[in-house]
Amino acid sequence: MKGAKICVFAKGDAASAEICGAFGTKLANAGFTIVSDFDETVELIVCIGGDGSLLNTLAALRFPNTPIIGVNTGHLGFFQELQPGELDEFIFRYKEKRYVIQELKTLRARIASEDGGEDELLGLNEIAIHGAHSHVANLNIFIGDSFIETFRGDGILVSTPAGSTAYNYALGGSIVDPRLDLLQITPIAPINNSAYRSFTSSVLLPPHLSVNVFPEFVRKPDILVAADGAEHTYTGVKRIHVAFSGETVRLLRLPQYDFWNKVKQKLL
Ligand code: NAP
Repeated sequence: MKGAKICVFAKGDAASAEICGAFGTKLANAGFTIVSDFDETVELIVCIGGDGSLLNTLAALRFPNTPIIGVNTGHLGFFQELQPGELDEFIFRYKEKRYVIQELKTLRARIASEDGGEDELLGLNEIAIHGAHSHVANLNIFIGDSFIETFRGDGILVSTPAGSTAYNYALGGSIVDPRLDLLQITPIAPINNSAYRSFTSSVLLPPHLSVNVFPEFVRKPDILVAADGAEHTYTGVKRIHVAFSGETVRLLRLPQYDFWNKVKQKLL
């Protein structure tokens, strides 16, 4: 009888390819069936690389609900739970179901154009809205139904708790324990002078509120929206709506996983 299916993805570098081969052999020897194409019958996704590889894998698979675990091959590895030296121990624990699942919410951005077109982007870390072509972004920002400000600057970032340690943190946003259920809006280089006023700090929102952005176009009618770093440029956008998607990513963690230890190891 064939064992449970595990789908393994690896970054294209030599170190990740080597770990991929070794881990695949170990998993097969432990009775699992290794596949490289994902479908609904897969029990676990393994991603070998860094956080960027995990984010790319999730985006390529349209953020599946299947548990995923990362093996870190020389990157920051905030999402990546395993080091290459821990594979045997992981297989032993996995077979005994000694792990925890960390449910992380994803964001959905709906981009509506003047011509009636609509696009949709999903992100686990964040949705960033930037001025295109290095121009200042002029963004009318509503939180829920309330108009808050006309933001002027490079743009704004809406991040999840999971994404709070990524671009958000580099912008001076707060680190959020992922057990908290909230959205964070962080300004990107806001302009504050005698002509313009924008928030200079992050703001935190309860999970049911959405962010609506109505761009004003001064020069070119373009705006750049990035979901987890993947950029899309749109022309003639009327509104960008950002909110939790209602779907989660299920990250597999070892029982001793502790968010604040990870912060200490990786960010301090
Ligand atoms: P990338 O090279 O894939 O990632 C940039 C760095 O961010 C890498 O060191 C990555 O870790 C780390 N990272 C990703 N998610 C993280 C998280 N949740 N917590 C802590 N660190 C995290 O860059 P990309 O393809 O442009 O975009 C992927 C992500 O990078 C975006 O979602 C964004 O948050 C972040 N980013 C950060 C900055 C900045 O800090 N100034 C600028 C642009 C984008 P690994 O080394 O393990 O891959």
